[in-house]
Amino acid sequence: LDIWVYQLGWADGPYPPTHWETLHWLQDMGFRVNPEIGRYDGLEGVERHYHQWADRRHDLEYEIDGLVVKADPFQHYERLGVVGREPRWATAYKFPPIQATTKLLGIEINIGRTGTLNPYAVLEPVQVGGVTVSKATLHNEEDIRRKDVRVGDTVIVQRAGDVIPQVVGPVVSKRTGRVKVFVMPDRCPVCGTPVVRPEGEVMRYCPNPACPAQAFRWLTHFVSRGAMDIEGLGESWCYVLLEQGLVKNPADIYSLTKEQLVGLERMGEKSAENLLSAIEASKDRPLGRLIFALGIRHVGSEIAVLLASQFGSIDALARASVEELAAIPTVGPRIAESVHQYFRDASNLGVIEKLRRAGVRMAEEIAAAPPEGPLAGLRFVITGSLASMPRSKAEEFIRQLGGSASDSVTKKTDYVVVGESPGSKLRKAQQYGTRLLSEQEFLELLRQHGAI
Ligand SMILES: [Zn+2]
Repeated sequence: LDIWVYQLGWADGPYPPTHWETLHWLQDMGFRVNPEIGRYDGLEGVERHYHQWADRRHDLEYEIDGLVVKADPFQHYERLGVVGREPRWATAYKFPPIQATTKLLGIEINIGRTGTLNPYAVLEPVQVGGVTVSKATLHNEEDIRRKDVRVGDTVIVQRAGDVIPQVVGPVVSKRTGRVKVFVMPDRCPVCGTPVVRPEGEVMRYCPNPACPAQAFRWLTHFVSRGAMDIEGLGESWCYVLLEQGLVKNPADIYSLTKEQLVGLERMGEKSAENLLSAIEASKDRPLGRLIFALGIRHVGSEIAVLLASQFGSIDALARASVEELAAIPTVGPRIAESVHQYFRDASNLGVIEKLRRAGVRMAEEIAAAPPEGPLAGLRFVITGSLASMPRSKAEEFIRQLGGSASDSVTKKTDYVVVGESPGSKLRKAQQYGTRLLSEQEFLELLRQHGAI
């Protein structure tokens, strides 16, 4: 395992005023900083650096998919600001994807966690940017049709960054008479159940909840890190548990016994104990994780957290009408319908009941007690930059002492901490007659209450 240190998160005390100097400062302290960094006064230099590495990237001992261009003086960072999660003072400058041509030997089907039939390309192995590629994604049947990719075609394959290789399209000029148009199967290739395609959707699904392929996908999803996070229960153990009939759906893992586990090949007593305690620990995951783990179609981890905060419990979510669900911003009718359907399915409800009986947490934790501390109930806003610490750290101190920190000044704001080059918040505070604190006064306040 190796590391390049590329940024300073927070420093206790003074640090250099620019990114470039900070990197050298870190290097002087013994941190590993990439020797290929460059600093330029204009975009021409950045362009040169980019093109140089676009050509030489394969000389590196590790893979890169582009450069990050950053503004140098920290004093500009706040003014540049952040859009969503993307800071304006740092931007990725990606290299074009690497492409190669090869032969499409066949198109096969993978069954996804929610039963989707996912076609993928089986390719004659080809080197794409130093990596041998023999499989590539084809998204869905519309994608295959739109690109007019046929089995036997010579196709263009590309890799960009860490993403799965993609088939860009066929090289039609190289097409021979021996190509075959791909037809999606009418039946699930694993269990043989006729597939369904809901109106308006591009994917076909295997509707059989007992489909072994789905059971495997669901189980591996359920135990994965973003879901119930059960350490030690990797794909191969999931496979064994299903194959041995010890588990039919994710809820069954909570009734596994030590005797059953020790009876499995290559499972020692110690690993069985570790696995059981990992399973036990997973009973107390936040509600959003459980909702995500349930594998509801179209419900990713972010939507799951949103649903958890809106409904507070599995039971309330299960009772919600399509209209109630669809009214939540970013949920929309498609997800609403899918969530509603999920809780109308008897086998899903059976799994949920079993999880409940096993003691898995089914509700959000009770709201935290009102904040305590010397600044309890006081609202702070910070404007401008503080010399002694980043704003986020200052806000953390405020919260530690029971106060709250927000971004905008309102009539309810109690204190505005004024740093260097304050913005419009200061004017607003003056307008409302809000009490102002200089950085020194703020530090004094923190010191007085023992925060620093
Ligand atoms: Zn199936």
